[in-house]
Amino acid sequence: MVSSSNIKLDSSFYHSLYDHRMTDASLPPPPNNTRYLGIDVGGTTIKFGLCDSHGAIRSKTSMPTDLLPEPRSVIQHGLEFALSALGASETLESVGLAVPGVLDTSSWSLKEVVNLPHWTNRPLLELLENESQRPSAIINDANAAALAEHHLRGLTDKSLALITLGTGIGCGLAVGGKGLSGDHGCAGEIGHLAINFSADANLCNCGRRGHLEAYAGAPAVIERAKKALECLDAQEIPSILRRTDLDPRDLSRAAEDGFQPAREIIIETGTYLGQAIGILGQVIDPAVVLLGGAMTFGGQAKSTGRDFLTAVKRSMADTTLQQVGSQMIIEYASLGNTAGVTGAALVALQKGRKS
Ligand SMILES: [Zn+2]
Repeated sequence: MVSSSNIKLDSSFYHSLYDHRMTDASLPPPPNNTRYLGIDVGGTTIKFGLCDSHGAIRSKTSMPTDLLPEPRSVIQHGLEFALSALGASETLESVGLAVPGVLDTSSWSLKEVVNLPHWTNRPLLELLENESQRPSAIINDANAAALAEHHLRGLTDKSLALITLGTGIGCGLAVGGKGLSGDHGCAGEIGHLAINFSADANLCNCGRRGHLEAYAGAPAVIERAKKALECLDAQEIPSILRRTDLDPRDLSRAAEDGFQPAREIIIETGTYLGQAIGILGQVIDPAVVLLGGAMTFGGQAKSTGRDFLTAVKRSMADTTLQQVGSQMIIEYASLGNTAGVTGAALVALQKGRKS
Protein backbone atom coordinates (compact mmCIF):
# COMPACT_ATOMS: atom_id res chain seq x y z
CA MET A 1 0.00 0.00 0.00
CA VAL A 2 1.23 3.47 -0.83
CA SER A 3 0.18 6.49 1.18
CA SER A 4 -0.88 9.59 -0.71
CA SER A 5 2.17 11.43 0.65
CA ASN A 6 4.37 9.09 -1.41
CA ILE A 7 2.62 9.85 -4.67
CA LYS A 8 5.07 11.44 -7.04
CA LEU A 9 3.91 14.82 -8.25
CA ASP A 10 7.05 15.78 -10.07
CA SER A 11 6.01 17.50 -13.28
CA SER A 12 9.58 18.22 -14.35
CA PHE A 13 9.31 16.10 -17.49
CA TYR A 14 6.68 18.43 -18.85
CA HIS A 15 8.05 20.68 -21.55
CA SER A 16 6.53 23.90 -22.77
CA LEU A 17 4.11 23.78 -25.66
CA TYR A 18 6.42 25.75 -27.87
CA ASP A 19 9.47 23.59 -27.23
CA HIS A 20 7.62 20.51 -28.29
CA ARG A 21 7.13 19.03 -31.76
CA MET A 22 4.79 16.29 -32.79
CA THR A 23 6.00 12.89 -31.82
CA ASP A 24 7.23 11.26 -35.03
CA ALA A 25 10.85 12.43 -35.18
CA SER A 26 11.42 10.64 -38.50
CA LEU A 27 9.28 13.23 -40.24
CA PRO A 28 10.61 16.72 -41.00
CA PRO A 29 8.99 19.59 -39.08
CA PRO A 30 6.23 21.32 -41.06
CA PRO A 31 6.92 24.80 -42.46
CA ASN A 32 5.99 27.70 -40.20
CA ASN A 33 3.33 29.01 -42.55
CA THR A 34 1.21 25.84 -42.65
CA ARG A 35 -2.06 25.88 -40.78
CA TYR A 36 -4.43 23.15 -39.64
CA LEU A 37 -8.19 23.40 -39.17
CA GLY A 38 -9.68 21.76 -36.09
CA ILE A 39 -13.46 21.36 -35.79
CA ASP A 40 -14.98 20.26 -32.49
CA VAL A 41 -18.61 19.16 -32.84
CA GLY A 42 -20.73 19.38 -29.69
CA GLY A 43 -24.44 19.01 -28.98
CA THR A 44 -24.91 22.74 -28.35
CA THR A 45 -21.86 24.45 -29.92
CA ILE A 46 -19.50 23.72 -32.78
CA LYS A 47 -16.02 25.20 -32.37
CA PHE A 48 -13.54 25.94 -35.13
CA GLY A 49 -9.84 26.69 -34.67
CA LEU A 50 -7.01 27.43 -37.07
CA CYS A 51 -3.81 26.14 -35.49
CA ASP A 52 -0.14 26.46 -36.31
CA SER A 53 2.42 23.66 -36.47
CA HIS A 54 2.95 23.81 -32.69
CA GLY A 55 -0.74 23.17 -32.03
CA ALA A 56 -1.36 26.75 -30.88
CA ILE A 57 -4.71 28.27 -31.91
CA ARG A 58 -4.12 31.32 -34.16
CA SER A 59 -7.78 32.07 -34.85
CA LYS A 60 -11.05 30.61 -33.63
CA THR A 61 -14.82 30.92 -33.90
CA SER A 62 -17.93 28.98 -32.94
CA MET A 63 -21.53 28.46 -34.02
CA PRO A 64 -24.62 27.09 -32.27
CA THR A 65 -25.16 23.50 -33.40
CA ASP A 66 -28.80 24.31 -34.27
CA LEU A 67 -27.59 26.59 -37.09
CA LEU A 68 -25.35 23.89 -38.60
CA PRO A 69 -27.35 20.72 -38.06
CA GLU A 70 -25.66 18.37 -40.51
CA PRO A 71 -22.04 17.43 -41.28
CA ARG A 72 -21.65 18.96 -44.73
CA SER A 73 -22.74 22.44 -43.56
CA VAL A 74 -20.34 22.21 -40.59
CA ILE A 75 -17.41 21.29 -42.82
CA GLN A 76 -18.24 24.00 -45.36
CA HIS A 77 -18.56 26.64 -42.62
CA GLY A 78 -15.23 25.50 -41.14
CA LEU A 79 -13.45 25.75 -44.48
CA GLU A 80 -14.87 29.22 -45.15
CA PHE A 81 -13.70 30.34 -41.71
CA ALA A 82 -10.22 28.83 -42.18
CA LEU A 83 -9.65 30.28 -45.63
CA SER A 84 -10.76 33.74 -44.50
CA ALA A 85 -8.52 33.56 -41.41
CA LEU A 86 -5.37 32.51 -43.29
CA GLY A 87 -2.61 35.09 -43.59
CA ALA A 88 -1.23 36.04 -47.03
CA SER A 89 1.68 33.57 -46.90
CA GLU A 90 -0.15 30.83 -45.02
CA THR A 91 -1.65 27.63 -46.40
CA LEU A 92 -4.28 25.27 -45.04
CA GLU A 93 -2.56 21.88 -44.91
CA SER A 94 -5.17 19.52 -43.48
CA VAL A 95 -8.43 19.28 -41.55
CA GLY A 96 -9.39 17.40 -38.37
CA LEU A 97 -12.86 16.74 -36.97
CA ALA A 98 -13.59 15.82 -33.34
CA VAL A 99 -16.97 14.17 -32.78
CA PRO A 100 -18.86 12.94 -29.72
CA GLY A 101 -20.40 9.49 -29.37
CA VAL A 102 -19.28 6.09 -30.57
CA LEU A 103 -17.06 6.45 -33.63
CA ASP A 104 -16.61 3.37 -35.83
CA THR A 105 -13.04 3.67 -37.06
CA SER A 106 -13.50 1.16 -39.91
CA SER A 107 -16.24 3.18 -41.67
CA TRP A 108 -15.38 6.50 -39.94
CA SER A 109 -19.04 6.99 -39.11
CA LEU A 110 -20.84 7.70 -35.84
CA LYS A 111 -22.79 4.72 -34.57
CA GLU A 112 -24.30 6.28 -31.46
CA VAL A 113 -24.53 9.95 -30.60
CA VAL A 114 -26.84 12.07 -28.46
CA ASN A 115 -28.37 15.35 -29.76
CA LEU A 116 -26.93 15.09 -33.31
CA PRO A 117 -29.60 13.23 -35.30
CA HIS A 118 -28.11 14.06 -38.72
CA TRP A 119 -24.68 12.71 -37.89
CA THR A 120 -25.22 8.98 -37.42
CA ASN A 121 -24.12 6.50 -40.09
CA ARG A 122 -22.69 9.16 -42.41
CA PRO A 123 -19.32 8.51 -44.12
CA LEU A 124 -17.67 11.40 -42.28
CA LEU A 125 -14.10 10.94 -43.44
CA GLU A 126 -15.10 10.70 -47.09
CA LEU A 127 -17.26 13.80 -46.68
CA LEU A 128 -14.43 15.71 -45.01
CA GLU A 129 -11.88 14.72 -47.66
CA ASN A 130 -14.24 15.52 -50.55
CA GLU A 131 -15.29 18.90 -49.19
CA SER A 132 -11.82 20.03 -48.09
CA GLN A 133 -9.74 18.40 -50.86
CA ARG A 134 -7.06 18.02 -48.21
CA PRO A 135 -5.70 15.27 -45.95
CA SER A 136 -8.36 14.75 -43.29
CA ALA A 137 -8.72 12.97 -39.98
CA ILE A 138 -11.51 12.20 -37.52
CA ILE A 139 -11.17 11.58 -33.82
CA ASN A 140 -13.49 11.02 -30.88
CA ASP A 141 -13.82 14.31 -28.95
CA ALA A 142 -12.62 12.83 -25.65
CA ASN A 143 -9.51 11.49 -27.36
CA ALA A 144 -9.02 14.86 -29.08
CA ALA A 145 -8.99 16.61 -25.70
CA ALA A 146 -6.62 13.98 -24.32
CA LEU A 147 -4.33 14.44 -27.31
CA ALA A 148 -4.28 18.21 -26.78
CA GLU A 149 -3.35 17.83 -23.10
CA HIS A 150 -0.74 15.20 -24.03
CA HIS A 151 0.80 17.64 -26.49
CA LEU A 152 0.64 20.58 -24.06
CA ARG A 153 2.63 18.55 -21.53
CA GLY A 154 5.19 17.33 -24.06
CA LEU A 155 4.56 13.72 -23.06
CA THR A 156 5.91 12.35 -26.39
CA ASP A 157 5.85 8.55 -26.04
CA LYS A 158 4.11 8.50 -22.64
CA SER A 159 0.38 7.91 -22.10
CA LEU A 160 -2.31 10.19 -20.75
CA ALA A 161 -5.95 9.69 -19.76
CA LEU A 162 -8.30 12.67 -19.57
CA ILE A 163 -11.39 11.97 -17.48
CA THR A 164 -14.39 14.29 -17.79
CA LEU A 165 -16.67 14.41 -14.78
CA GLY A 166 -20.29 15.48 -15.11
CA THR A 167 -23.66 13.82 -15.62
CA GLY A 168 -21.69 11.07 -17.31
CA ILE A 169 -18.06 10.16 -16.80
CA GLY A 170 -16.06 10.08 -20.03
CA CYS A 171 -12.44 9.38 -20.72
CA GLY A 172 -10.11 10.10 -23.61
CA LEU A 173 -6.84 8.26 -24.06
CA ALA A 174 -3.67 9.47 -25.75
CA VAL A 175 -1.05 6.77 -25.99
CA GLY A 176 2.31 7.72 -27.47
CA GLY A 177 0.84 10.84 -29.07
CA LYS A 178 -2.15 9.09 -30.62
CA GLY A 179 -5.77 8.78 -29.53
CA LEU A 180 -6.80 5.25 -28.55
CA SER A 181 -10.38 4.40 -29.55
CA GLY A 182 -10.46 0.62 -29.31
CA ASP A 183 -11.88 -1.68 -31.94
CA HIS A 184 -15.48 -0.73 -31.11
CA GLY A 185 -15.00 2.93 -30.29
CA CYS A 186 -15.30 2.31 -26.56
CA ALA A 187 -11.73 2.26 -25.20
CA GLY A 188 -11.44 4.11 -21.92
CA GLU A 189 -15.18 4.21 -21.17
CA ILE A 190 -14.30 4.51 -17.51
CA GLY A 191 -17.86 5.52 -16.53
CA HIS A 192 -18.93 1.97 -17.24
CA LEU A 193 -16.15 0.23 -15.34
CA ALA A 194 -17.66 -1.94 -12.61
CA ILE A 195 -16.51 -0.95 -9.12
CA ASN A 196 -19.22 -2.87 -7.22
CA PHE A 197 -20.05 -6.45 -8.15
CA SER A 198 -22.80 -7.12 -5.59
CA ALA A 199 -26.30 -8.09 -6.81
CA ASP A 200 -27.84 -4.94 -5.34
CA ALA A 201 -25.17 -2.55 -6.66
CA ASN A 202 -26.46 0.78 -7.99
CA LEU A 203 -28.11 0.67 -11.40
CA CYS A 204 -26.24 2.54 -14.16
CA ASN A 205 -27.88 4.52 -16.99
CA CYS A 206 -26.63 1.86 -19.40
CA GLY A 207 -28.76 -0.78 -17.66
CA ARG A 208 -25.91 -2.62 -15.90
CA ARG A 209 -25.16 -2.52 -12.19
CA GLY A 210 -22.18 -1.34 -10.21
CA HIS A 211 -20.63 0.97 -12.79
CA LEU A 212 -18.62 4.02 -11.73
CA GLU A 213 -21.19 6.39 -13.21
CA ALA A 214 -23.86 4.96 -10.89
CA TYR A 215 -21.73 6.13 -7.93
CA ALA A 216 -19.76 9.13 -9.14
CA GLY A 217 -21.75 10.63 -12.01
CA ALA A 218 -23.38 13.93 -10.97
CA PRO A 219 -26.93 12.48 -10.51
CA ALA A 220 -25.55 9.65 -8.34
CA VAL A 221 -23.54 12.12 -6.23
CA ILE A 222 -26.67 14.21 -5.66
CA GLU A 223 -28.67 11.08 -4.82
CA ARG A 224 -26.09 10.08 -2.18
CA ALA A 225 -26.06 13.63 -0.82
CA LYS A 226 -29.85 13.68 -0.48
CA LYS A 227 -29.79 10.38 1.41
CA ALA A 228 -27.14 11.73 3.78
CA LEU A 229 -29.13 14.93 4.35
CA GLU A 230 -32.29 12.95 5.19
CA CYS A 231 -30.51 11.69 8.31
CA LEU A 232 -29.98 15.25 9.60
CA ASP A 233 -32.29 17.71 11.35
CA ALA A 234 -33.52 20.37 8.93
CA GLN A 235 -31.88 23.20 10.90
CA GLU A 236 -28.49 21.54 10.56
CA ILE A 237 -28.66 21.72 6.75
CA PRO A 238 -27.32 24.88 5.04
CA SER A 239 -29.97 26.70 3.01
CA ILE A 240 -28.04 26.10 -0.22
CA LEU A 241 -28.61 22.36 0.23
CA ARG A 242 -32.34 22.62 0.96
CA ARG A 243 -33.20 23.25 -2.68
CA THR A 244 -34.96 20.50 -4.58
CA ASP A 245 -32.79 20.98 -7.70
CA LEU A 246 -29.44 20.41 -6.00
CA ASP A 247 -26.36 20.13 -8.17
CA PRO A 248 -22.72 19.31 -7.38
CA ARG A 249 -21.77 23.01 -7.30
CA ASP A 250 -24.12 23.50 -4.31
CA LEU A 251 -22.38 20.61 -2.61
CA SER A 252 -18.99 22.22 -3.33
CA ARG A 253 -20.10 25.55 -1.87
CA ALA A 254 -21.49 23.93 1.27
CA ALA A 255 -18.27 21.93 1.73
CA GLU A 256 -16.21 25.06 1.17
CA ASP A 257 -18.27 26.77 3.90
CA GLY A 258 -17.30 23.98 6.29
CA PHE A 259 -20.39 21.73 6.10
CA GLN A 260 -18.77 18.37 6.84
CA PRO A 261 -21.44 16.00 5.40
CA ALA A 262 -21.06 17.68 2.00
CA ARG A 263 -17.28 17.30 2.19
CA GLU A 264 -17.69 13.62 3.08
CA ILE A 265 -19.88 12.96 0.01
CA ILE A 266 -17.25 14.63 -2.19
CA ILE A 267 -14.42 12.63 -0.60
CA GLU A 268 -16.44 9.44 -1.07
CA THR A 269 -16.92 10.38 -4.74
CA GLY A 270 -13.15 10.79 -5.05
CA THR A 271 -12.67 7.35 -3.51
CA TYR A 272 -15.00 5.73 -6.07
CA LEU A 273 -13.28 7.55 -8.91
CA GLY A 274 -9.85 6.53 -7.62
CA GLN A 275 -10.90 2.86 -7.64
CA ALA A 276 -11.80 3.09 -11.32
CA ILE A 277 -8.58 4.98 -12.10
CA GLY A 278 -6.74 2.17 -10.31
CA ILE A 279 -8.25 -0.36 -12.75
CA LEU A 280 -7.36 1.91 -15.66
CA GLY A 281 -3.86 2.21 -14.18
CA GLN A 282 -3.34 -1.54 -14.13
CA VAL A 283 -4.51 -1.90 -17.74
CA ILE A 284 -3.05 1.16 -19.50
CA ASP A 285 -0.47 2.31 -16.90
CA PRO A 286 -0.59 5.96 -18.01
CA ALA A 287 2.01 8.47 -16.82
CA VAL A 288 -0.66 11.14 -16.33
CA VAL A 289 -4.38 11.11 -15.54
CA LEU A 290 -6.19 14.44 -15.77
CA LEU A 291 -9.58 15.36 -14.34
CA GLY A 292 -11.79 17.87 -16.15
CA GLY A 293 -15.45 18.58 -16.88
CA ALA A 294 -18.20 20.33 -14.97
CA MET A 295 -17.87 18.42 -11.68
CA THR A 296 -14.40 19.04 -10.26
CA PHE A 297 -15.61 20.62 -6.97
CA GLY A 298 -13.73 23.85 -7.53
CA GLY A 299 -10.58 22.15 -8.86
CA GLN A 300 -7.12 23.11 -7.69
CA ALA A 301 -8.27 26.61 -6.69
CA LYS A 302 -10.50 25.39 -3.83
CA SER A 303 -9.73 23.34 -0.74
CA THR A 304 -12.69 21.06 -1.55
CA GLY A 305 -11.27 20.39 -5.02
CA ARG A 306 -7.84 19.68 -3.56
CA ASP A 307 -9.34 17.30 -0.97
CA PHE A 308 -11.28 15.55 -3.75
CA LEU A 309 -8.06 15.10 -5.72
CA THR A 310 -6.26 13.75 -2.64
CA ALA A 311 -9.05 11.20 -2.14
CA VAL A 312 -8.78 10.13 -5.78
CA LYS A 313 -5.00 9.65 -5.49
CA ARG A 314 -5.20 7.77 -2.20
CA SER A 315 -7.88 5.41 -3.46
CA MET A 316 -6.02 4.79 -6.72
CA ALA A 317 -2.75 4.09 -4.88
CA ASP A 318 -4.48 1.78 -2.38
CA THR A 319 -5.78 -0.45 -5.17
CA THR A 320 -2.80 -0.71 -7.53
CA LEU A 321 0.70 -2.11 -7.63
CA GLN A 322 3.15 0.28 -6.05
CA GLN A 323 4.93 0.73 -9.38
CA VAL A 324 1.69 2.22 -10.77
CA GLY A 325 0.31 3.88 -7.65
CA SER A 326 3.48 5.66 -6.63
CA GLN A 327 4.26 7.11 -10.06
CA MET A 328 1.00 7.98 -11.78
CA ILE A 329 0.43 11.74 -11.80
CA ILE A 330 -3.20 12.74 -11.24
CA GLU A 331 -4.11 16.40 -11.53
CA TYR A 332 -6.68 18.77 -12.99
CA ALA A 333 -6.79 19.38 -16.75
CA SER A 334 -5.48 22.69 -18.14
CA LEU A 335 -6.94 23.38 -21.56
CA GLY A 336 -10.65 23.67 -20.78
CA ASN A 337 -13.02 24.17 -23.67
CA THR A 338 -10.38 24.65 -26.39
CA ALA A 339 -8.96 21.15 -25.92
CA GLY A 340 -11.27 19.53 -28.51
CA VAL A 341 -10.40 22.03 -31.25
CA THR A 342 -6.68 21.78 -30.49
CA GLY A 343 -6.83 17.97 -30.51
CA ALA A 344 -8.71 17.97 -33.83
CA ALA A 345 -6.04 20.26 -35.33
CA LEU A 346 -3.27 18.04 -33.94
CA VAL A 347 -4.73 14.92 -35.54
CA ALA A 348 -4.99 16.92 -38.79
CA LEU A 349 -1.33 17.89 -38.38
CA GLN A 350 -0.32 14.25 -37.90
CA LYS A 351 -2.33 13.25 -40.96
CA GLY A 352 -0.96 16.13 -43.03
CA ARG A 353 2.64 15.20 -42.29
CA LYS A 354 2.11 11.62 -43.39
CA SER A 355 0.42 12.54 -46.69
ZN1 LIG B 1 -22.91 1.77 -17.13
